[in-house]
Amino acid sequence: MRTLTFLLLLFVCNINAQTQPWQGKFEPIDNMISAPNVYRAASGAPGKAYWQQRADYNIKATLDEKNNTLYGEETITYYNNSPDDLTYLWVQLEQNVNKKENEDFGSINNRMKDSITSRKLQFLTRAIDFPAGYTIKHVKDTDGNHIKTMVNNTMMKVKLNTVLKSGETTKLSIAWSYPITDRSMYLLSREGYEYFPEDDNTVYLIAHWFPRMAVYNDTEGWQNQQFQKLGEFALEFGDYKVEITVPEDHIVASTGELLNSESVLTKTQLKRLEQAKKSFEKPVMIITQAEAEANEKEKSKKQKTWKFHAKNVRDFAFASSRKFMWDAQAVKLPTNTVMAMSFYPKEGLPVWQEESTKAIMHALEVYSEATFDYPYPVCISVNTSNIGMEFPMISFNGGRPINGKISDNAKQGMIGTIIHEVGHNWFPMIVSSDERKWMWMDEGLNTFIHQRTVAERYPDFNSVTPKSIVPFMSGDQNILRPIMTNSDNELMSQFGANFYLKPTVGLQMLRNSIIGKELFDDAFREYANRWKYKHPNPADLFRTLEDATAVDLDWFYRGWFFTTDVVDMELTAVKWFKVYEEHSNIEDQQNTKKVKLSANSNNTNEAAKDFTEGPEIVTMISTPDKAYGQFLSRLDDDEIRKQLSGKNIYEVTIKNIGGLVMPITIEWIFKDGTSEIDTLPADIWRRNEYEIQETFIKTKEVSQVKLDPNFEFADTNINNNIFPKTEEISEFDEFKNKKS
Ligand SMILES: [Zn+2]
Repeated sequence: MRTLTFLLLLFVCNINAQTQPWQGKFEPIDNMISAPNVYRAASGAPGKAYWQQRADYNIKATLDEKNNTLYGEETITYYNNSPDDLTYLWVQLEQNVNKKENEDFGSINNRMKDSITSRKLQFLTRAIDFPAGYTIKHVKDTDGNHIKTMVNNTMMKVKLNTVLKSGETTKLSIAWSYPITDRSMYLLSREGYEYFPEDDNTVYLIAHWFPRMAVYNDTEGWQNQQFQKLGEFALEFGDYKVEITVPEDHIVASTGELLNSESVLTKTQLKRLEQAKKSFEKPVMIITQAEAEANEKEKSKKQKTWKFHAKNVRDFAFASSRKFMWDAQAVKLPTNTVMAMSFYPKEGLPVWQEESTKAIMHALEVYSEATFDYPYPVCISVNTSNIGMEFPMISFNGGRPINGKISDNAKQGMIGTIIHEVGHNWFPMIVSSDERKWMWMDEGLNTFIHQRTVAERYPDFNSVTPKSIVPFMSGDQNILRPIMTNSDNELMSQFGANFYLKPTVGLQMLRNSIIGKELFDDAFREYANRWKYKHPNPADLFRTLEDATAVDLDWFYRGWFFTTDVVDMELTAVKWFKVYEEHSNIEDQQNTKKVKLSANSNNTNEAAKDFTEGPEIVTMISTPDKAYGQFLSRLDDDEIRKQLSGKNIYEVTIKNIGGLVMPITIEWIFKDGTSEIDTLPADIWRRNEYEIQETFIKTKEVSQVKLDPNFEFADTNINNNIFPKTEEISEFDEFKNKKS
């Protein structure tokens, strides 16, 4: 208790010592996120009155290969589950972003400079012009009446002929077409065609291809923010019936279940597909290399219609080509068996045949374990150039060997891309956050589980750790934005780090070092299950992770998500106090025992700066009676002396230089070469956000002290994490030598 008195005094001194203004780093973030209501509960779960619109699609599309044009007719059945009556609807026309004057070439791409490549100049100037954007033939109601529309760039306002009352349903039929664009003409080309001059063939990646309902919800009303390429999509769930007519010799890979396999596949292909359904160990080739190469030469003039059905998806995409090889295997999950399938041109060999379907399987297994079982019948990876892009049940993934060879790095990149894009089936295809507004909500959460999949299933690969984010976070503060920045306001050079990596590292820190794996995993699973097939906001994630763990995380959200502060802890000082029983100095003065605690070394300098100069002398006095208040019992001073005898007391001073408050791990390296780690929770900064002192008792004598020895907290400057400071090591050695 005397020791406590001593510490309490110190503590009071600390509070007085905070010279910089209090910033409220532990204050609740209630005023920074939307307030809970009947739609979104304070627990982070959907509220009692949560509602969501729904849109079912019936689409017939025809791919005109000769003119690279897609024609379509669709009927949208739109369910107004909102409490509001609607006089107009908004329909998304993303293809219009590619129209001349609509595209955002200037701000997304590079600037003019000398020795600029022709491709970059094409990006900047569109020197080779090409047609793009929708032709809307008509928009009608079910009675065939024309409906008035107004197109504003990538959004079409549909002025309903009659008000769509709350709880009612309406149907729109839309006929449209658009020229499919050459993917090499764009940066951020998520879809379009890729031409292969060698065999005069094309791979079509068809996505955001049909006019789609914009989201109408309780937080935005209509989410009709324009498509500007970086901020992706906000979409409603529904069922899809899609008929795709393509050249007869094309193979179509698509969202959904193939309904008419008997009429589009050969008997051999059907037989192999049946085998694949029972093959859990390795993929079965449905179309071999020789068959694909023979197919490349066909160039049939006839057409064939592929029919697909998809339930409860928020989007629909497909790929079509006569170049595709195709392999498939079954993956068994606790509640579902999924067909993992890959489609690739021969240009992807051999690595695509070896790795793609395997990577799908690993992603399906780890993501299902971390969240909920993959619910759909198929999961497809299609090889393409350059990108990785996700859609329900299907993704387009880059990575090809050059002359049959692929570097280890490129192979890691390819497998990582497949895992990542398959992982997007969970975030945002099922846990359907608003990508146009918050890129980090799907990219961050998805990259977090993607990196976990890589770490667990490909331990030899590089994977993201807190150290990975240090170069970004310690970058130029003038261009850094908080994670909580709208998708289209981020720089092309920064969005990968800010929206993918930084949230990933944040979640890794929460899981591994702040909450703990078991509780964190349970809470993360809770969030995924609460919001599957729904539209979560950032507040719903923040609230759920607190609600399901009993850990106050407002300080973490405030710092990591709402600021660009960094972690930089400085180990400012370590003082050493050594306590010995002192027989000669015990005096009895008016019932107060005074105990002199002195050092065992020759160094009796009471103002010793740190432990390298030897232990400091402190005087422990008996606690005066009045300090016990109404307690009649007294602590056993002799016992306290006994417990402290021979032990080393270290007082550590740590300064928060970077601004972010974080837990602290301290590694003690003892003179005998052994070491141990102490952990202090972030709460240590609650009363002084700039500087803290903490006292430890160690049996062994310490030779060195380190902060964050395992790089758990993305400390941006590790040079100030060691004590004695490394440049003073020679002095320290001298001291050690003198002692011995
Ligand atoms: Zn992604």
